Amino acid sequence: MTKQRDNRKKKVFRKTPGGKTRKAFIKRHISRKKCAVCGKKISGTLPAAKEAKASKTEKRPSAQLAGVLCNSCRAVAVEEALKVREGVKKSGEVELRFRKYAGMVLGRIEGGL
Ligand SMILES: [Zn+2]
Repeated sequence: MTKQRDNRKKKVFRKTPGGKTRKAFIKRHISRKKCAVCGKKISGTLPAAKEAKASKTEKRPSAQLAGVLCNSCRAVAVEEALKVREGVKKSGEVELRFRKYAGMVLGRIEGGL
């Protein structure tokens, strides 16, 4: 019989040194969402385990790329996209790690206009 405190833990089967298989309850790792570019924790998001019960607006901020990039990386991506749009930079000159996201921002800007 499982104890009530083990209900939230994940059940796994482990072999004992005597060769028998026993149930073991391990604590689930709760991971936070991280920025795709720098790996920093994204503010305003919930850990995946708590997301199921939360409402849509509690899950992530509504700004473009807000669930993917952190605030500082998002600002750089938007800046790079605007530079490409205004002709200051070519899309090939944008730093490689921001190129994909700058392209996404650019698509949104040009699609919206
Ligand atoms: Zn970042």
